[in-house]
Amino acid sequence: MSNVGGFLLIFSGPSGSGKDTILHRIMERDDKTVVSVSMTTRAPREGEQDGKDYFFVTKEEFEDHIKNGDMLEWARYGENYYGTPKAPILNWINEGKTVVLEIEVQGADKIREQFPDVRSMFLMPPSLHVLEKRLRARKTNTEEDIKRRLETAKEEIGRANDYDYIIVNNRLEDAVEDAMEIILRHRRHLRENDSGDEFYYGYQYKDEVEYINEVARVLPPVEDFSERGLKDGRE
Ligand code: 5GP
Repeated sequence: MSNVGGFLLIFSGPSGSGKDTILHRIMERDDKTVVSVSMTTRAPREGEQDGKDYFFVTKEEFEDHIKNGDMLEWARYGENYYGTPKAPILNWINEGKTVVLEIEVQGADKIREQFPDVRSMFLMPPSLHVLEKRLRARKTNTEEDIKRRLETAKEEIGRANDYDYIIVNNRLEDAVEDAMEIILRHRRHLRENDSGDEFYYGYQYKDEVEYINEVARVLPPVEDFSERGLKDGRE
């Protein structure tokens, strides 16, 4: 069957946590991974291309797409709309692709409702300080935008535990390896699934747990967190 191994993968993490960079590296290595191009009403950043990084549209155009039922999910983030166009997604899954949705936490909730088998990864920045530095390095963000993104980041980090996997982006190369391994393992699992064995895999970042708990008090203590490695995180 051609669709064996195809699946939907949510990739969330605060703005500036490094999702784009990691996905670029993965796509260089793995031609079975495709990243859905989202639609947004925000202005393009320097170097961003329409149709490649996002489909850049006006608010009116976006609202028309919502009305026409063209979006798999959409959310407001800051002042802008962001959404996933429905069209190519199911075809890609049927072709056996790993289809990555790089979306924020509200969109992730909507996707989980529609696709119970979706897998999800959350990318954690090494610290809020580093996150702030990265956001400032993007010269296109205004001071107000940076502040809002940092506040949103804290809320998003508080939702990290809803994800199957948490990857801390301490060293880019390690984060790429972790994400790649999650993809390859799940793909292999789907191909071998006839055995009925349960798929489980998890990452433990004991050093970072302290930081995570400090930032997001809702996250469980170290013992609970490390149990992630022993079971499917999606219970
Ligand atoms: P940015 O403006 O930094 O490109 O994106 C802001 C946030 O919107 C990021 O967390 C990004 O993952 C999220 N985002 C991008 N595309 C979509 C989408 O199609 N749907 C949803 N719900 N969020 C998205």
